[in-house]
Amino acid sequence: MASAFEKIKSERNKDLIVTDNHKFSFQKVYKDGNKRWCCTVNTCKSFIKTNPSETEILSRTLVCAHALDSERKIRNSVKRKAENDFTDRPWKLLHDELNEEDCGILTKDDVISIQKGIYGARRGNHSALPQSVVDVQLCE
Ligand SMILES: [Zn+2]
Repeated sequence: MASAFEKIKSERNKDLIVTDNHKFSFQKVYKDGNKRWCCTVNTCKSFIKTNPSETEILSRTLVCAHALDSERKIRNSVKRKAENDFTDRPWKLLHDELNEEDCGILTKDDVISIQKGIYGARRGNHSALPQSVVDVQLCE
């Protein structure tokens, strides 16, 4: 299985492999010399195997089900803006962010999840509606 990938250095100067916008860090060398790289997201069990000279991806086990790094960054940034600015529509906030940031590809599901994030962030700022006459009297 040959797929395109790129080798980069992490902030701590460790080797990373980037494929499909997911990062993998070096984990161990197999007995046959091939190398195992695991996903940099702690909860993700996905890993890839490369040949000893790290020129080819031999296999990939499991596919990352979590959000891409760039998508997570955009989601957090848009959420922060949404909390501070109640007047802009979610779509405008996302559009402004995408103009500033080169994020690669967002799927329809990514966009829906970002919009849900904005909704959730704004909803957290509202006070709860009174549920009974007693609640209303307590508010005054
Ligand atoms: Zn992963």
